[in-house]
Amino acid sequence: MTEPDHSPAVETATNGFEALGLRPELLAAIVGLGYEEPTPIQAQTIPLLMEGRDLLGQAATGTGKTAAFALPILQAITVGETHPETSALIIVPTRELAIQVSEAIWRYGRELGVKVVALYGGQPIFRQLQALSHGVHVIVATPGWAIDHIHRGSLSLGGVRVVVLDEADEMLDMGFAEDIEAILEQVPPERQTVMFSATMPPRIDAIARRHQRDPIRIRIARTASVDGSAPLVRQTAYVVSRHHKAAALGRILDIEAPTAALVFCRTRIEVDQLTETLTARGYRAEALHGGMSQEQRDRVMGRLRSGTAELLIATDVAARGLDVDLLTHVVNYDVPSAPESYVHRIGRVGRAGREGVAITLAEPREQRQLGNIERLTKQKIAVEKVPSVAELRSRQMELTVASLRTALDTDDELLDPFRTAVQSLRSEFDALDVAAAALKLVHDASGATIDEAEIPDVSLRPERPARPVRDHGGERTPTNGATARIYIGLGKLNQIRPGDLVGAIANETRLSGKEIGPIKVADRFSIVGVPESAVDEVIEAIRKTTLKGKKATVRRYSEDGSEVRESREARPGTGPKPWNKPGKPAKQYGGQGRPRR
Ligand code: AMP
Repeated sequence: MTEPDHSPAVETATNGFEALGLRPELLAAIVGLGYEEPTPIQAQTIPLLMEGRDLLGQAATGTGKTAAFALPILQAITVGETHPETSALIIVPTRELAIQVSEAIWRYGRELGVKVVALYGGQPIFRQLQALSHGVHVIVATPGWAIDHIHRGSLSLGGVRVVVLDEADEMLDMGFAEDIEAILEQVPPERQTVMFSATMPPRIDAIARRHQRDPIRIRIARTASVDGSAPLVRQTAYVVSRHHKAAALGRILDIEAPTAALVFCRTRIEVDQLTETLTARGYRAEALHGGMSQEQRDRVMGRLRSGTAELLIATDVAARGLDVDLLTHVVNYDVPSAPESYVHRIGRVGRAGREGVAITLAEPREQRQLGNIERLTKQKIAVEKVPSVAELRSRQMELTVASLRTALDTDDELLDPFRTAVQSLRSEFDALDVAAAALKLVHDASGATIDEAEIPDVSLRPERPARPVRDHGGERTPTNGATARIYIGLGKLNQIRPGDLVGAIANETRLSGKEIGPIKVADRFSIVGVPESAVDEVIEAIRKTTLKGKKATVRRYSEDGSEVRESREARPGTGPKPWNKPGKPAKQYGGQGRPRR
């Protein structure tokens, strides 16, 4: 691996962002994060948001939408006040996203000394109250918690100039429509209202009509560069948590054994880290930086061509204009920020009738983006499981044996000195043992025996078809597979609302709001539908967490109530009756006696 050359890269790094007119502190933060140019949604929305326009943007996770709304917010904050007034309120569906967004705002606004607080369940409220009492520039909250604080009088929203509703469709799916309306009523009417949503069902339009002023509508354009015909390459995706990504990629590459691969990362920092990780795994990996001169690039390409390097790790900017006919694999280390970028990237393999492979690593939340890409390209991306240790071992053995075969097929004379050595060993050892020991040495030297741990499969829907875009009209129906029901021993009398259940489950498991439901909240208990494949995970997660500060009894709920009887906690007939059965009114749940553990 050559030393990455940063100096010229820094020169060009902020060009795209500078042109947007961002303040120097933000540009410095962006350079520090290794962003090289604005993503499409950022390029389109940042100037408009800085003008104060309302915006309705269609963008999913992974498109860079957080920075798209965060940077204009930070551009406008007044710094240096000891007790700042809150000027921006960001509402997000889940705790996970609240944390993610508040951290992103903190990172972007670091040099400005921005004060940001995230309000969500599962943390001591006094900490939130304390932060609020000192004054913050930006509040990121889940709808339920924003409402709780409004009721407590701990949120002062009179100075709010921007409200952002992030993942608005997800919030509606989670049953937060009323909460959102109530929150919007509390902020000054002259504020700017920004809404992002991965899909645009009519209900989103309705909110826009009621609460936005002449919003600009933006959608990641399906540009002319995309003719709907991605090249014919084998396209696969692996869903892995961020934590396991580098290890997963290492393993996938071990199995794929590419001759020459281009790996795309979002940032140059990621490029450097991944180059280091893959080099440590025994790959000849080279980092390609945006600021490299043509000569430097040519040298790197030369190394790829001669086989001195087998992996090229690059950002989109760095890979621009590469002559890459020899590539066998393209890897998206993240789901690209726009489907068009995916098409552009994978267009680099499978040229001239050669076989090409496109591999994409997606974090659980980015699975939706894969669906967008499938829709755009009208091609299927097969979601596969990260190879297990056993699969890896067997593939490694295959590769060792294959290299032995190649050696056996090579020029006979080259083996002569080794034959002499084997002859002498044969007087002491069995010929089979000699061959086995030699093979073991080769195998070990290839790095095939390093310790490996299993990488958890976090894909809920292996081989999942593209998710159709649709409006559920308030009904939540899981998108795929059988639905199972879960009994949760808290209900209306414990102040539980459907949104609390969806929020808790979406926060604690890999399910999204759309996959949770239907939900019935009775006085003393609730029944929640979840995909059959996720039942154990959901039960485990709810057992570990609290709902409205209380631990809940939770178990699988079967249609015939057998679980209830099995648990010997309720007399037959006193447990909750199956719901959704024809002719059974929903109110049968109210006060009908609660099965106890
Ligand atoms: P988001 O869609 O906001 O969840 O962002 C997805 C990821 O893209 C995050 O890890 C961001 O740090 C990253 N990101 C956002 N903007 C850029 C950019 N202009 N260049 C590179 N990475 C970015």
